Amino acid sequence: MKLDSYSDVCGKETAAFENAAISKELLIDRWDEILEFLRTQFNITKVSFNTWLKNLKVKDVRDDLVILFSSDPSIGSNLTFIKNKYGAFIKNAIEEIIDEEINIDIVGDEPAPERTARLPEQTVRSSSLLGLKLNPDYTFDNFVVSGSNSLVHAAALKVAEAPGEYYNPLYIYGDPGLGKTHLMHSIAHFILENTPSLKIMYVTSEVFMNELVEAIRHGSVAPADFREKYRNIDVLLIDDIQFIIGKDRTQEEFFHTFNYLYEAKKQIVISSDKPPRDFNNLEERLRSRFECGLTVDLTAPDFETKMAILQKKLEIKEYESNIKLNVDDEVLSYIAESITTNIRSLEGALTKLIALSRIKRTPINIELAEEALRDIVFPNQKKTISPEYIIDIVSEHFSVPVEEILSTKRDKYIVIPRQICMFLARRYTSLSTIDLEKIFKRDHATILHGIAAVEKKIKNDDETEKTIDTIVKKLNI
Ligand code: ADP
Ligand code: MG
Repeated sequence: MKLDSYSDVCGKETAAFENAAISKELLIDRWDEILEFLRTQFNITKVSFNTWLKNLKVKDVRDDLVILFSSDPSIGSNLTFIKNKYGAFIKNAIEEIIDEEINIDIVGDEPAPERTARLPEQTVRSSSLLGLKLNPDYTFDNFVVSGSNSLVHAAALKVAEAPGEYYNPLYIYGDPGLGKTHLMHSIAHFILENTPSLKIMYVTSEVFMNELVEAIRHGSVAPADFREKYRNIDVLLIDDIQFIIGKDRTQEEFFHTFNYLYEAKKQIVISSDKPPRDFNNLEERLRSRFECGLTVDLTAPDFETKMAILQKKLEIKEYESNIKLNVDDEVLSYIAESITTNIRSLEGALTKLIALSRIKRTPINIELAEEALRDIVFPNQKKTISPEYIIDIVSEHFSVPVEEILSTKRDKYIVIPRQICMFLARRYTSLSTIDLEKIFKRDHATILHGIAAVEKKIKNDDETEKTIDTIVKKLNI
């Protein structure tokens, strides 16, 4: 007899259970619960969980042996590692949820044709992107298309689909924070995915300039390696060109790079804060080169676009944190109305609101949104530094999640940021030690010790002093 649900196991059909051993369907049914138990009960960090465990699935059950596999094909040779490190936890999680003793095994995925097909592509992929890293979230899929940016989006997509064939160069301009870098990365991702044989170079013009300066400094009159590097490519994406305009030597070198690639029908994409005609110090010959392809501009988004972008960002944050964030449209529209021009600030406001809700452990509502956006909506009001704000900035600086700073964990990588939060809260807020005790859920002595430890380190160690200076700058008091 087949067991269809957990109630069968617990209830009247227990007798059948003894014969049928453990039901695969039951395990599959409750798999999300098992993973959740695993994630929350064994102090597994989010990164480790997402990398090793999230994609585990039930493959088969034989008597009391549960056979698992990973649906992530890149896991391949790491199965032994997963077994050794997490095997006991996984076994325990399954036993807790289904209330039966079991054994586990983790095996490779079926020899899926997809997997063999994917590996060579990944190898090509890493070697065909040169220059700077891409942000994995900056893809066409994550780019919200609306009236104000649809032309730029269409042009970028066209270029990505057929590099060098349509608009060359594609020149995208617009104010900061409107999506230029996002679109450039999207083009690169798209080509890497669809035409992985092409060599793509993504750099900012600053990097281009620094590399040129380095090449010249190392003695070569004609920096041959530099030229070779920038010419032996199929697609050049150069971000924020404005930094090199007016810098004669760099501009000159860029002109030659541009001509070389252009003549060879290689795709060039340029971004800038201004159209070519608005640069007073742009050499005429370079201006006419820039203008010979397609010049498109990104303008500030309208309300509906801002709402759609906020929803998209929220979706990404939920996916990445694996937590459902309850933010209703009223709150989103408050943010969209308050922030008029810059999409980066729009996202910053959402991040701040979520952080504030975590620190205060309160739901995300309009009151909290008003608090989070106070500095942005009323920029002229004197800034009040709250402990939440300090924790938020310190968390970002050290890349330690807010939850961990506020947790009871004693690992060194958490303790130092936590003590720095205590120190800064004492210095820049009017909170008493009792208030700090409540915020950090620590006793009096621990708070005082934390503050004193940072004071001592600042005196004795230049690095700590520099770190604190940098964080204070970020606090922008
Ligand atoms: P720029 O390079 O123009 O200064 P970015 O490309 O860095 O701006 O964009 C700033 C932020 O706004 C990024 O987080 C980006 O993902 C987001 N963004 C901009 N436009 C859009 C859009 N249409 N859809 C989704 N996110 C967007
Ligand atoms: Mg940019």
